Amino acid sequence: MKWYQYHTEDVARKLSVDEKEGLTEKQVQQRLKQFGFNVLEEGKQTNLLMLFIRQFQDFMVLVLLAATLVSGLLGEYVDAIAIMAIVIMNGVLGFMQEQKAEKSLAKLKQLSAPQAHVRREGEWRKIPSAELVAGDIVKLATGDRLSADVRLVRVNGLEVEESSLTGESIPVAKKIEPLYEDVELGDQYNMAFSGTLVTRGSGTGIVVGTGMDTAMGQIASLLVHTERVPTPLERKLAQLGKVLIVTALLLTAFVVFLGVYQGHPLYNMFLAGVSLAVAAIPEGLPAIVTVALSLGVQRMIKRKAIVRKLSAVETLGCATVICSDKTGTMTENEMTVKQLWTMDEHLSVTGEGYDVQGTFYDGSSQVQPANIHDIQQLLTFGALCNNTTLLHKQGRYTIDGDPTEGALLVAARKAGITDDELNRFNVIYEIPFDSTRKRMSVVIEDEYKQRFVITKGAPDVLIPRSSYRKHIAGYVPLKHKDQQRMNRSINNMAEQALRTIAVCYKPLKKDKTYTDLELEQDLVFIGFTGMIDPPRKEVKEAIEQCKQAGIKTVMITGDHAKTAEAIAGDLQLIPEDGKVMEGYELNAMNEEQLAAAIEDVYVFARVTPEHKLKIVKAFQRKGHVVAMTGDGVNDAPAIKASDIGIAMGRSGTDVAKESSSLVLLDDNFATIKAAIHEGRNIYENIRKFIRYLLASNVGEILVMLFAMLLALPLPLVPVQILWVNLVTDGLPAMALGLDKSEGDVMKTPPRNAREGVFSRGLGFKVISRGIMIGLVTLLAFIMAYQGDPERLVYAQTVAFSTLVMAQLIHVFDCRSERSVFARNPFGNLYLIAAVLSSVVLLFIVIYYEPLQGPFHTTDLAARDWLGILGLSAIPTLLWGYSKR
Ligand code: ATP
Repeated sequence: MKWYQYHTEDVARKLSVDEKEGLTEKQVQQRLKQFGFNVLEEGKQTNLLMLFIRQFQDFMVLVLLAATLVSGLLGEYVDAIAIMAIVIMNGVLGFMQEQKAEKSLAKLKQLSAPQAHVRREGEWRKIPSAELVAGDIVKLATGDRLSADVRLVRVNGLEVEESSLTGESIPVAKKIEPLYEDVELGDQYNMAFSGTLVTRGSGTGIVVGTGMDTAMGQIASLLVHTERVPTPLERKLAQLGKVLIVTALLLTAFVVFLGVYQGHPLYNMFLAGVSLAVAAIPEGLPAIVTVALSLGVQRMIKRKAIVRKLSAVETLGCATVICSDKTGTMTENEMTVKQLWTMDEHLSVTGEGYDVQGTFYDGSSQVQPANIHDIQQLLTFGALCNNTTLLHKQGRYTIDGDPTEGALLVAARKAGITDDELNRFNVIYEIPFDSTRKRMSVVIEDEYKQRFVITKGAPDVLIPRSSYRKHIAGYVPLKHKDQQRMNRSINNMAEQALRTIAVCYKPLKKDKTYTDLELEQDLVFIGFTGMIDPPRKEVKEAIEQCKQAGIKTVMITGDHAKTAEAIAGDLQLIPEDGKVMEGYELNAMNEEQLAAAIEDVYVFARVTPEHKLKIVKAFQRKGHVVAMTGDGVNDAPAIKASDIGIAMGRSGTDVAKESSSLVLLDDNFATIKAAIHEGRNIYENIRKFIRYLLASNVGEILVMLFAMLLALPLPLVPVQILWVNLVTDGLPAMALGLDKSEGDVMKTPPRNAREGVFSRGLGFKVISRGIMIGLVTLLAFIMAYQGDPERLVYAQTVAFSTLVMAQLIHVFDCRSERSVFARNPFGNLYLIAAVLSSVVLLFIVIYYEPLQGPFHTTDLAARDWLGILGLSAIPTLLWGYSKR
């Protein structure tokens, strides 16, 4: 028999689990040992050896290796070995960089791994889905992506979209009754499968299959591994790389041609040319960019932002608008009922957070809510139309579920309404809450088998659905002037930043079946509560900082316009001429009209998630780069359409997370600001090392070119060129990637998303500094050489040292967009370490006798160093002074 053919009790029995308690830790450990973790076996991992070999597959490196081999065969052993050693070291470095990039990407994947809500040892826990075992009792909620196959034991309007398995995109309504025949996957209505998506309602199930033993596992071999898409910058650099390769090759060819024309031996020139090409082609650039991006990603994790797509790191720095949810992102998402309103009463309630201590006041006199029928009913019904539980842990009250509902439970408790009292009623049907409907209903049966429906939700949604209002113990028709009174009170509460939730009910006839539509109309209006959700402390400052950074913050909320406006006022989010726009106004506009009006809007209130897409598109139409937050299933399209989709780590559904490029671990608006800060900084650092590397390469090519034009001997030998490529171009460039920002990056406007790699003067800086580095190196060579072939090795050592030192000084220039004097040179200790170790390595190849042969060097005197340092400082100081 198959799982779907058993009764639920039999499933539990067969898997030795008590539905109320869940599995014990011991059972779990034993099952994990026996059946393994709940993971799909991954496709082939990239082989480390292959990754290493790949480092040498570059065409120019191959040519260099071939050329070296030839020189070895011709008897130039020392040269050949030195070059080989450097090429291999270069390969190792590239390999390590790629490894590092891969590792941090893998770590990222782990961090965004899905979680499951499971009952173990008698309590609900959140655990990584990989730790699920057969027999686990799991809770399913709207927006969850299932990570195991389950047999359903309880459903509540549960609908699951199974297209990943069946191809059918219309959600399937789930039931729990057993099936008796053999049926296909799509018809197994009491099962829910790994990889499918809960689109509506909720439920509970028993895990019956994990890992490869799920329906998804059986087709896992068919799943294709998704390739990582390069980020915009990586793509731009790859394109630029092609141009640079051709330029470098042409120039090198020209150098070789000139050299041969000037009478240098062909073989010598060839080896020099190939070395120069290898050095000048910035083949490592994309890898360093990836490393810098992923290092940035790690820094973001520390600030509680998880980047799901590497490209987000770049795009973050271009963001011009942040559209943020109010509840939970800008506010604490800890609700407390502060006021209660019925036709005859208007009470206030004391107490903070979810603590159940609190007193009720009518004006300034204390009252006992138990003595006021309507208030008692309002609170009892609010607690019944409710899916949240109040927990008491370590002396503190917390909730498991929705804060709005938690607040209602706490208020009921303050009024002395006990669980026993509530347990007299049975919930027999539920129409779940969702942000579009803005209401939730339950059908209740009391101990006398009397049935009634309770609906709670946004008052402006429930008033039109009410035909009656409470009156003494019964009800009377709702009049227009009653409605006016209610609206005045609602507005009044909303202006105090309170969220209002109305509660209505309606007696039901026993023998009649009602449709959902019928249940939620002709209701009896009881009253409403006003609850506070205080703004998060750090948000006000974050909004101010975004403003200074040229980023507009927009609040989007399903809440009442007045409530939203009051909170936005507290946060100083709306400028004087700023507007609040409501959902119904949005409905009346097309995208173009909205785009025309949107620049003035700072708060969107009473919107549904569907409106968010329209808002994103309208902003994009105005040329904005939009960051959009969201948590629910319906938010996914807007998150996907935005430039930076942001999902909530705590309250977000799997669907929202899957569509996002950034996940906030703490659901906090301030974290978005922190991520933008990091994003801007990373991009600036990338610009810094691109500038450094390319200027160095220009210098290397030019010194050779100039020398050939002037009919001089080679100022640098191949192995020296390769050494420069390995040491001076490598370490300091990486250290630049770890640099701190110059000044406050949050005080400048966002970067234009379309700007090229060389924008904002970078191209000029590369060329000008490159030419100067080439010139001073050449000058050093000429002065040391003095036309005397006897002095060649000495002159080459001087030129080599000048080139290295000029680059090492120039690296400090690259830290600033303005001038080398604009920053404290000791501000980046990594850079100091990189520069010092480069200098030490330079001294070793110059002064350590056994290396003098292979590196064509000779001892230099202190006087030589004075000249070298003087010349090599010129490229940096020249512009440093002129720009100061
Ligand atoms: P955002 O997170 O975008 O700021 P929100 O959380 O304020 O939005 P929703 O959760 O979409 O908005 O809620 C919209 C309205 O629905 C609320 O203003 C409230 O009146 C009502 N509401 C919220 N939660 C519930 C609930 N659990 N049951 C019934 N009604 C609710």
